[in-house]
Amino acid sequence: MNAQEIRKAYFDFVTERGHVVIPRAKLVPQNDPTTLFTGSGMQPLLPYLLGAEHPAGVRLADSQTSFRAQDIDEIGDNRHTTFFEMLGNWSLGDYFKKEQLSWFFEFLTDVVGLDASKLYVTVFQGDTSNNIPKDEQSAEIWKQLFANKGIDAGYVEVGSEADGYNVGVPAGGRIFFYDASKNWWCRGGKIGDMPVGEPGGPDSEVFYEFDFIEHDTKYGPLCHPNCDCGRFMEIGNSVFMEYLRTENGFEKLPKQNVDFGGGLERIAAASLGNPDVFKISLLNPIIEKLENLSGKNYEANTVSMRVIADHLRAATFLAVDGVTPSNKEQGYVMRRLVRRAVRFAFDLGIEQNFLEGIVPVIADLYENDYPEIKAGRDEVIAILVKEEKAFRQTLRNGLKEFNKFSEIDGEALFKLYDTYGFPVELSTEEAFKRGTRLPDNWRQQFDAKLEEQRNRSRTAEKGAFKGGLGGDSLQHKKYHTATHLLQSALRQIFGSDLRQHGSNITEERLRFDFNLDHKMTDAEIARAEELVNGWIDQDLPVSYKLYPTEQALEMGAIGPFGERYGDEVKVYQMGEGDQLASLEICGGPHVDHTGQLAEGDKKFKIIKEEASSAGIRRIKAVLV
Ligand SMILES: [Zn+2]
Ligand SMILES: [Zn+2]
Repeated sequence: MNAQEIRKAYFDFVTERGHVVIPRAKLVPQNDPTTLFTGSGMQPLLPYLLGAEHPAGVRLADSQTSFRAQDIDEIGDNRHTTFFEMLGNWSLGDYFKKEQLSWFFEFLTDVVGLDASKLYVTVFQGDTSNNIPKDEQSAEIWKQLFANKGIDAGYVEVGSEADGYNVGVPAGGRIFFYDASKNWWCRGGKIGDMPVGEPGGPDSEVFYEFDFIEHDTKYGPLCHPNCDCGRFMEIGNSVFMEYLRTENGFEKLPKQNVDFGGGLERIAAASLGNPDVFKISLLNPIIEKLENLSGKNYEANTVSMRVIADHLRAATFLAVDGVTPSNKEQGYVMRRLVRRAVRFAFDLGIEQNFLEGIVPVIADLYENDYPEIKAGRDEVIAILVKEEKAFRQTLRNGLKEFNKFSEIDGEALFKLYDTYGFPVELSTEEAFKRGTRLPDNWRQQFDAKLEEQRNRSRTAEKGAFKGGLGGDSLQHKKYHTATHLLQSALRQIFGSDLRQHGSNITEERLRFDFNLDHKMTDAEIARAEELVNGWIDQDLPVSYKLYPTEQALEMGAIGPFGERYGDEVKVYQMGEGDQLASLEICGGPHVDHTGQLAEGDKKFKIIKEEASSAGIRRIKAVLV
């Protein structure tokens, strides 16, 4: 079965078992200001897992296109991709462990046709410090399922991932018990950090074994399912939302949910018996096209071809979902994907435009299953090709500059980087190709210039803060902090396209301009006030950290519309984890915790909402 057939078979399989297959959510989350991208199948469904009623019922399924920007620099191995599809099914207070584990096992072995003897599973070991028992129930279900295939599945007590390297895979071992760091799901990830009222539960993962891959002892003495050497590949995880943290410890939830996610690309790789996901039917045609365009083969150029295939597939879906390349947020990540693809194409000797050859191949792979790809095909190709051309022009300008030098030192490399966006790896490579000499200390020279520029932008940032915000009295700090909360509230109400278009603070009030196409209704104003006052009541801590600009934007930190940043920025955070109310790039003065805004029994109140200019609204608000 190829990947497309597996996706289709999965939809048929879950439909026969009473699920409604819902459309994928876009890669850019709607109404969620805290993240840039949809990174899992669970993310768009979280409100329903937490109790909201879903219009399609209590058995849902989909294939969720997902994107994880934090993995960009790690692409190149045989299993990681920034973009992937997650097959998902959910029980909202309906079926539970027995059905879920049996179905997934049946799907893998009887539908996809995987050999049951290649499958290994993990279950939750229990957590004595929190009084949560071992997940015996899941273990027994697994034991029976394997027995039905004639396999006597032995239990293996592991503990943590580190313990796994000493335990290994004992003879007959197939059901592995890991601790909460591996087999417990909750928002925020750590069992000990769960606040009262928070749901969580054990999960159970399935791994496929590529038994011809020898364990690499650099990871640890012995191989085990959670080892990263590549012998075992996780292909699916069933989360059982079973418990609620209460004042008195953990109690069973009255309504228990199942959240299942399985990597389509990985299941397809297992089905091929090949650990390289780039060989599956959704990626291999892109690799073949690259071989064809470059005249080089995949075996000798694996990393470059994987990076290009991954990045352009992701960029294609981002374009379909409405992202265009820019210097901000999602657009910035997309620009980076295209630029990296072009840079890696240089490694393959592809020095002319090649996206017009590759993107149609990607569209072909998906348009039968995703009508939006068919509908947006021409536009998507045009967006990506235009971005490639613009970047190549930048590179050409840089190269021209390059020809002026006979020796290239770190300062010249910095100038190319700073003025033309010429990646330093390309510069050094180009110098090498031309036989141009580089001094031994070019890197130090380059870094020194970079540091100088960072200092300049920090100073500029401070200057801007003094000029723009006008003071740092306590009253100013309060209104400035309230401005962050107001922006978050507005983005929560109107979506993440909403952005600051101006701000002014006096001792008496804040003023905030933002893009919106209509006059706010009374209900919308009331909702904004309610959100801001809610965050003030929660007395959230306000803190900041310095981040490289790139990373800040990838984290989803927002800044004023049209702002230009230095290489490093201050990111202010109010609240954390699931209580994150605001994440903003900012140089301004803030209070230490949001409760200070209520000092003297004050409340946040919007006193005016009016037009400022075309498409821009203006709010004046006070603490009274
Ligand atoms: Zn291993
Ligand atoms: Zn601020």
